[in-house]
Amino acid sequence: MGFKDLWNKLSSSEKGQIEKNVLISTVDEVYNWAKRNSIWPLSFATACCGIEMISSTGPKYDMARFGSEVFRATPRQADLMILAGTVTKKMAPIVALLYEQMPEPKYVISMGNCTITGGIFRGSPTVVDYMDQVVPVDVYLPGCPPTPEALFHSILKLREKISKETILTRQQRVESHVFQRNKPLVELDVRL
Ligand code: SF4
Repeated sequence: MGFKDLWNKLSSSEKGQIEKNVLISTVDEVYNWAKRNSIWPLSFATACCGIEMISSTGPKYDMARFGSEVFRATPRQADLMILAGTVTKKMAPIVALLYEQMPEPKYVISMGNCTITGGIFRGSPTVVDYMDQVVPVDVYLPGCPPTPEALFHSILKLREKISKETILTRQQRVESHVFQRNKPLVELDVRL
């Protein structure tokens, strides 16, 4: 007996009760809904873009509307690393370590030109030009600095990306996120 036969056997009041109280969804949709509405960023910034990131949590911009106002003081409780500002070669191994300490599923927004291409410090002997060579970046947010509104746009883009994920490919995603784990930073193209 199929679902349709069972449904046809119900009385109209039973059907009404089911329609009011039963919600049918997929595991992916419930899982992604929970993830995208509680993206907790790590309390972490490396330069001036960090000021814009900090101001986005104030009452004027209200990051709480995305469920992301809970900046965590430990990577163990964070889902999102916002690379907010120039990363120096001295700092890069610390950034990689913090990323490694975050539990899966975890995401990275590269905020500002400095973390995407080196920005105004491009070619400097002390600055990492491409932070996506150190940690895997999910969303690139250009600007110098990007505004809080632009940061919100990148969070919305990240939420879109999370909505399309499926638990069936989670293992591949985790593996792709640790591609640099055993590689010393000197072997990466970060011009150390
Ligand atoms: S992109 Fe501009 S604002 Fe952001 S860290 Fe670099 S110099 Fe500062």
